[in-house]
Amino acid sequence: MYPDSPENATLTVPEAKLDAVKINNLYFFYPGKARTAVLVIPEWRIARGARVFLKGPSGSGKSTLLNLLAGILVANKGNIEILGQNLGALSSRARDRFRAAHIGMVFQQFNLIHYLSVLDNIRLAAHFGKKDMVDLTVTAKQLFDALGLDNMLITKKAGELSVGQQQRVAIARALINSPELLIVDEPTSALDSDTRDAFMKILLEISQKQGNTLIFVSHDTALTHHFNHIVNLAEINQAGAVEYVC
Ligand code: ADP
Ligand code: MG
Repeated sequence: MYPDSPENATLTVPEAKLDAVKINNLYFFYPGKARTAVLVIPEWRIARGARVFLKGPSGSGKSTLLNLLAGILVANKGNIEILGQNLGALSSRARDRFRAAHIGMVFQQFNLIHYLSVLDNIRLAAHFGKKDMVDLTVTAKQLFDALGLDNMLITKKAGELSVGQQQRVAIARALINSPELLIVDEPTSALDSDTRDAFMKILLEISQKQGNTLIFVSHDTALTHHFNHIVNLAEINQAGAVEYVC
């Protein structure tokens, strides 16, 4: 066997591939606000398979960071590598494709398309993803069962669902491609504590089954025991600590 034959490639995974997330010298500000950077992160790494709970006060930049990790926002300086891929090296279309294939994202506001049916919302994510969805409906229904959602909802318009139902559909949409990286932004803020605990159990079970790396943002510290890494954004973010001028 030759040293770099494909058979050997799987034995020697390059170190970068072991990280789900690798940030170096990240600097981000919103347009026109260069003097008040939201994020200045010299270094941050998340190993593949980790379950990370990211906390921090409202307005501290958590959603901004998640949008940068998903390639929805682009850093002003520095590097963000996701699963070994430097996002800064991709065109915006290639970033969209990369996100669709590898990242599942549950937004704070869910971002479902209200006038489309639930199934069409999920179909859209599957269409952009890496898989040939031979029978999308079956996979979607399996996810619905696991999430405790009535299968009858699949034909309803997303805008007709309750907030709790929309949230579960948003999770199903994020999981339809079995993404390597699952990013969830404040999913429990609209739930009472019983519903929240049931929701967490389901989310973590499915995530574990799929084997994805999980980054979960919340300010609800009652949830931290579900995670093996608790990160306070202020520990990694130096914005505000020093005046940076880009
Ligand atoms: P968090 O998710 O921790 O509550 P955000 O990432 O939403 O925080 O916001 C971080 C900071 O960036 C806040 O000061 C917020 O006002 C600002 N911000 C968020 N989105 C935008 C935007 N689209 N344009 C300008 N400023 C923004
Ligand atoms: Mg937020």
